[in-house]
Amino acid sequence: MSRPQQITVLGATGSIGLSTLDVIARHPERYQVFALSGYSRLSELLALCVRHTPRFAVVPEAGAARTLQDDLRAAGLSTRVLVGEEGLCQVASDPEVDAIMAAIVGAAGLRPTLAAVEAGKKILLANKEALVMSGALFMQAVRKSGSVLLPIDSEHNAIFQCMPQDFARGLGAVGVRRILLTASGGPFRQTPMAELSHVSPEQACAHPNWSMGRKISVDSASMMNKGLELIEACWLFDAKPSQVEVVIHPQSVIHSLVDYIDGSVLAQLGNPDMRTPIANALAWPERIDSGVAPLDLFAIARLDFQEPDEERFPCLRLARQAAEAGNSAPAMLNAANEVAVAAFLDGRVRYPEIASIIEEVLNLEPVVAVDDLEAVFTADAKARVLAGQWLSRHGR
Ligand code: NAD
Ligand code: MG
Repeated sequence: MSRPQQITVLGATGSIGLSTLDVIARHPERYQVFALSGYSRLSELLALCVRHTPRFAVVPEAGAARTLQDDLRAAGLSTRVLVGEEGLCQVASDPEVDAIMAAIVGAAGLRPTLAAVEAGKKILLANKEALVMSGALFMQAVRKSGSVLLPIDSEHNAIFQCMPQDFARGLGAVGVRRILLTASGGPFRQTPMAELSHVSPEQACAHPNWSMGRKISVDSASMMNKGLELIEACWLFDAKPSQVEVVIHPQSVIHSLVDYIDGSVLAQLGNPDMRTPIANALAWPERIDSGVAPLDLFAIARLDFQEPDEERFPCLRLARQAAEAGNSAPAMLNAANEVAVAAFLDGRVRYPEIASIIEEVLNLEPVVAVDDLEAVFTADAKARVLAGQWLSRHGR
């Protein structure tokens, strides 16, 4: 039998990272953990190292690295600790690595993920922000290196599964008319609009169907998550924004659909558990057990659909506008959103102000071409400064 595949998990201490390790641990004959990274909660990273015995662990700074290295030695492990973005890029591109799970949240995931792409690794992409920021450059790098790019986002993994068989061989989305991107509508789908000014971070993070990290939970509440996913879908499936329709489906059982020109509509269904798309991508084109319970259609009984209301969800409108504008607009949208969501989670801005901050940033800064990574990070930095100015002007 061939040797187990060597997997690097970037963002191992997060929600996707932990689900990935759960699936990997079910298949020790197929997968071995090569490296794990964590940014905070480093005692949890230590426990993960003890459990999965990686060759490398990556932490954000030297002090944390020394502590973790001492603790690992004391536990009898030979895991080597690396530091910062350089360490992340190293474990993402190491010649021994077969695949990486890109599960760092936000813009911080871009450089390490690109390092893995450039090294021709199989990329399991959860970090949608990387693709939103630099879609054209990212996809160009994928084509150049011959990397296999597999979406982890449940919707995009569903779409991938519903695409024509030859899609994964680079033959395009032949016969596809539309992509129907499903959204749960989040915790505020029915909250009276007047109450939205008073919702707390805890309410925003209490997602009805999915258990996720705090940033993506707020994005789901505002539907910015769906906006980012719309942009992500355009890059992954070579679609125009007008070909992607968002459909609110509160049960989160249909994870998305593909509409073909002959009228066939293919959907992927399953329980809302990220271990399904993770197992699908890890084993692709084979199938493995993910630990997810079989779908019980009788218990679900009904599936509902609804058109999104852009007045209730202005972030969805802003993301669609950024998708249409292209160039630097998605990177600015993403960066402004990251600042606004962090401020909301810290209790410094009210929930409706997230959209106000993003809208102001997009209105103030003209859209420019982004021909290289530097231009992407310049756009990202400008948006962060402008969002910061909104905060200081409002005394936050
Ligand atoms: P999370 O907050 O639970 O975990 C984030 C991980 O990134 C943690 O390991 C954290 O230590 C690390 N991290 C945070 N900031 C970092 C930085 N500056 N540098 C390096 N590492 C850093 O988030 P999550 O819910 O697991 O989401 C991870 C990514 O997957 C996000 O891009 C999210 O949009 C995407 N995603 C998540 C889900 C889900 O169900 N959780 C579904 C689809 C897509
Ligand atoms: Mg999703």
